[in-house]
Amino acid sequence: MRTVGHFIGGKEVEGKSGRFADVFEPMTGEVKAKVALATKAELRAAVENAKAAQPEWGATNPQRRARVLMKFLELVQRDYDKLAELLAREHGKTIPDAKGDIQRGLEVAEFACGIPHLMKGEYTEGAGPGIDIYSMRQPLGVVAGITPFNFPAMIPMWKFAPAIACGNAFILKPSERDPGVPMALAALMLEAGLPPGILNVVNGDKEAVDAILDDPDIKAVGFVGSSPIAQYIYERAAQTGKRAQCFGGAKNHAIIMPDADIDQTVDALIGAGYGSAGERCMAISVAVPVGKATADALMSKLIPRVEALKIGPSTDPTADYGPLVTKEALERVKNYVEIGVKEGATLAVDGRGFKMQGYENGFYMGGCLFDNVTKDMRIYKEEIFGPVLSVVRAHDYAEALALPSDHDYGNGVAIFTRDGDAARDFAAKVNVGMVGINVPIPVPIAYYTFGGWKKSGFGDLNQHGPDSVRFYTKTKTVTSRWPSGVKEGAEFSIPLMK
Ligand code: NAD
Repeated sequence: MRTVGHFIGGKEVEGKSGRFADVFEPMTGEVKAKVALATKAELRAAVENAKAAQPEWGATNPQRRARVLMKFLELVQRDYDKLAELLAREHGKTIPDAKGDIQRGLEVAEFACGIPHLMKGEYTEGAGPGIDIYSMRQPLGVVAGITPFNFPAMIPMWKFAPAIACGNAFILKPSERDPGVPMALAALMLEAGLPPGILNVVNGDKEAVDAILDDPDIKAVGFVGSSPIAQYIYERAAQTGKRAQCFGGAKNHAIIMPDADIDQTVDALIGAGYGSAGERCMAISVAVPVGKATADALMSKLIPRVEALKIGPSTDPTADYGPLVTKEALERVKNYVEIGVKEGATLAVDGRGFKMQGYENGFYMGGCLFDNVTKDMRIYKEEIFGPVLSVVRAHDYAEALALPSDHDYGNGVAIFTRDGDAARDFAAKVNVGMVGINVPIPVPIAYYTFGGWKKSGFGDLNQHGPDSVRFYTKTKTVTSRWPSGVKEGAEFSIPLMK
């Protein structure tokens, strides 16, 4: 059986804790590897390596740091197919979807190649007599990222590419469910010319995470995962004086106005609701048709499409989606469907009985569709994270706007309409961080920032885009009097620029 250790100081090292987690191949349900779970001492070893390597890397000029990322982009392209297959086999998503996971991560690495420009400071000549002021951005030192199972390529790259480009050393604690691709990415960064110790991967569970949170040499933590853990990490990181940005779960609504192109909307809902088996933080999990006629038309078109979804093993390029990540995740999603039925929602399509021929032990589930879901139901309030779409019927636009706005989560939302006024009003008023107009999954492109509101995001700065440079650097501002010959005498009140 393959074992996955850690990547510390530029090489893969075995885990010493004697504790391991199973890494499944969701399409067959078999355990294919064991991943080591780090102790506090192993985390500390990674931090020591990072701390020793960081000063020289931080002092390397930004264009040379960018060149390492440029080479990394090339190497990932070289290994694209291999990485996508590994990712699909450990996660369960299909290979085309795994390629998208890698691509959306690479786009942030491409963005980070602009670091010489992105890190430029400000300068004011003559802010006072003989006084010039300038600011500079400096790396924080050693920083860490803790990432979820559902994007094992994209989210690690969202974290480490900008952090490393800014001159930091990075400790990545990826999900223990699919550690293969994060380990491979670290090896490719080394091959691209990154000095050993600048990118370390420490595999593990809560023990490794708590060691990161308590380590005095780690200056910032970027987290992505479920909301309770996001909140825990945000609070505990703050207690030890770290910078933290923690992104959590979601309940993304799609509002369907009466004038929407219904066929386009149904295509969008099917892809965004069921793609990747619904295991995306930007998946649409709630559809809100406005008015009875819209709801009836939507349901009549959605039902046959959900029934016709093609579920297959991750290696089947024609499958719409593959298995869920673990048996536990599958049981959890099925349990939510049961809860929905008990709560009185109408289960219009029940995919719980789906069996994949030839892959009977895989973690497959057919698409489920609920109608007549109401605000008080648990299946509406909580994140299900599976191939389940809930339809909440709204009487009018005001009620539809209030649903995502009042929900505890605030990651993404979409409106489908042909009416520019309605779309503009919705984008301005909805209380959610990322908005799509006739776009079901409005994940902003790498040079914009990504971040949800409310329970979907704890912290002040978003991921990628300009905020990532702000998050991974500290600003120093220098006020200089030059030439020093300007004489003003001693000043006892607060200095003012004259
Ligand atoms: P998770 O919260 O279970 O795990 C995320 C990370 O936290 C993993 O590295 C895990 O090892 C660690 N962790 C788990 N339990 C912990 C604990 N008790 N203490 C300390 N660390 C712990 O999330 P997941 O199941 O891997 O990922 C799915 C979740 O991530 C969903 O809620 C999804 O919406 C969310 N997500 C959010 C975004 C976003 O940008 N907002 C993006 C992707 C996924």
